[in-house]
Amino acid sequence: MNVLISACLLGFACRYDGQRKEYSAVEELLKERDIHLIPFCPEQGGGLATPRDPAERQGDAVRTQSGRDVTEQYHRGAAMALNLAQTFGCTVAVLKEKSPSCGSGRIYDGTFTRTLTAGDGVTAELLKKHGITVIGESQIKAFLANRAGK
Ligand code: SF4
Repeated sequence: MNVLISACLLGFACRYDGQRKEYSAVEELLKERDIHLIPFCPEQGGGLATPRDPAERQGDAVRTQSGRDVTEQYHRGAAMALNLAQTFGCTVAVLKEKSPSCGSGRIYDGTFTRTLTAGDGVTAELLKKHGITVIGESQIKAFLANRAGK
């Protein structure tokens, strides 16, 4: 199966701060021979540079900490992610938790105080609207266990 994945989870240096990080949970995914991962970063895809100012959702808008409105870039990146997922027939996406693009279920609340609130990032929301199951990195183990139990 093809699975869309946030590029930063695979160690791409596409995070807002330009750093790369390792996520041990993803190693389990990489061991699955029948799972083909398709990495994508919607923020870069939408036209934002790396590194870039941190941004958070504020209602329907997305703004950087300095107040720049980047809503359009976030929507453009989300549309590209959806197009990629549909092109490769992905029914599942593994997306980085808490991100204003990729976060699913919980994201930062728009105050730039590291406060979490219920909600989805722009890309996660769009993928879900189109029937794609979005899981975060902390859910990978459960996802794989479910598959094994099938
Ligand atoms: Fe990672 Fe998504 Fe942020 Fe890109 S937009 S750095 S893929 S969390």
